[in-house]
Amino acid sequence: MPLSSLANGPASLLASWKGTSVSGGTTKNFIGGQFVESSTTEWLDVHDPSTQTLLSRVPETTPTEFEDAVQKASAAFKTWSKTSIIGRQKVAIELQHLLRQNADAIANSIVLEQGKTVADAHGDLLRGLQVVETAIGCTSTLIGDKLEVSKDMDTYVRKVPLGVVASIAPFNFPAMIPLWSIPMALVTGNTLILKPSERDPGAAMIIAELCQRAGVPPGVLNVVHGGVPTVNAICDHPAIRAISFVGSNRAGEHIYNRATKNGKRVQANLGAKNHAIIMPDANRNHALNSIIGAAFGAAGQRCMALSVAMLVGEARQWLPELIERSQKLKVNAGFEPGTDLGPLISPAAKARVTGLIASAEEQGGKILLDGRNIQVPNYPDGNFVGPTIIEADTNMKCYEEEIFGPVLVVVQAETLDEAIEIINSNKYGNGAAIFTNSGATARKFESDVNVGQIGVNVPIPVPLPMFAWSGNKGSFLGDIGFYGKSGVNFYTENKTITSLWKSEDALVTRASVNMPT
Ligand code: NAD
Repeated sequence: MPLSSLANGPASLLASWKGTSVSGGTTKNFIGGQFVESSTTEWLDVHDPSTQTLLSRVPETTPTEFEDAVQKASAAFKTWSKTSIIGRQKVAIELQHLLRQNADAIANSIVLEQGKTVADAHGDLLRGLQVVETAIGCTSTLIGDKLEVSKDMDTYVRKVPLGVVASIAPFNFPAMIPLWSIPMALVTGNTLILKPSERDPGAAMIIAELCQRAGVPPGVLNVVHGGVPTVNAICDHPAIRAISFVGSNRAGEHIYNRATKNGKRVQANLGAKNHAIIMPDANRNHALNSIIGAAFGAAGQRCMALSVAMLVGEARQWLPELIERSQKLKVNAGFEPGTDLGPLISPAAKARVTGLIASAEEQGGKILLDGRNIQVPNYPDGNFVGPTIIEADTNMKCYEEEIFGPVLVVVQAETLDEAIEIINSNKYGNGAAIFTNSGATARKFESDVNVGQIGVNVPIPVPLPMFAWSGNKGSFLGDIGFYGKSGVNFYTENKTITSLWKSEDALVTRASVNMPT
């Protein structure tokens, strides 16, 4: 069945993606159950990062269209919030099925617009699908508390939806991150306005259409496109109760400040600089492969990428092998078989990453592996940077800034204590990993290190969705994490009811004015 939401956009490209320009195609908004062409005059271009082919144009949603989306979401909330929990669960079950059935179309859209490899694009979807699967358990997670507090008197808590909520997504996980919000917001009874990344909206559009097919009623999920003006409209609209944001610190701090000032609940997952410690007693093969995979997979464009390595003591001797294995990774377009790393999202991202590598050179860092001038046959215009390894100090720009590219910074640490101190002094707190065969070392690391997500012999310790995302320090703003029990709490508020149903009617004619105890 053709995906009508993308009739003019990326879906029609999927069969002939290679080198075929679709200049003039547009991505539609999804408002009130309809895929509608925007009447805007401002469009943002979506390019294939391997070829620069123009794939689609994304509208800067007009204020009237945005208002329409909020009105439709508000109207839908009245009925959706009263839909039975089993009814909402049924929609989530159907969505799970449809996502699996259409995994190839979603993954292809991701490869085309974002550039990651086919296998990695399937992983992107799968990690989102797991949130849908966990959300199916809403029939248990939404159970409240009840206690008979005194004779004939009960107190109970209802977890009620907030109303209209919004989700603002980044480019690097076009399926997973919209799917952190869609199932959690919907099964809890909210209606949602999603703003996907303007750089790769295709996967979100396919998912929106699958939601419709799964039985999500009109207005319950709406997708609006755009950049800063649309984001600001979300932050300012009085009917929007909460915002889930994932992206850079610059955007996230702006959104958090603006939206919380307007009284909204905000959860904001931000940037990162994740460190790996390799102890000399680690399983060498596992440690080296894990670090290479986590540093260079998705061209380093993951917020849980391992971007700093500290080889402690004798593990330093493994550095030549780390370089040699990294050198063997294949850089190519995501659709090409055997590709390990695809391109960066844009020429500007490539310029930024190569600029940060150059800054390391200027500041006295050693470029041990240089991916700046990589040539990728058949894709001369792609935004490619090959695996790069820099030996650097913690006061260099390449260490201080999130690079978000295939660059591993190797920092000297003589001891475990020194390595932990370096991690704890870093402004970010998304994740960190240790590779060791000592339980005592692992335990010390886990207990002393101040980041939210810790891997012990696990390079990318992203929690499965029965747990919650738990980045901290500069990697998170807000109080309630994404998905898991936190996700349920984020999208609901408690109503506490105390009721008295007297079993016998004693005749009392005088009112008591004392505080009831
Ligand atoms: P980004 O901040 O540029 O964009 C994210 C969203 O914010 C987009 O929808 C965009 O339209 C909007 N936006 C961009 N600039 C804005 C501004 N100035 N004001 C208001 N809105 C703005 O992020 P990105 O480049 O798409 O994604 C990469 C970043 O996201 C990295 O920093 C990465 O670490 C982070 N990230 C974090 C997590 C996490 O869970 N911690 C997960 C994925 C990505």
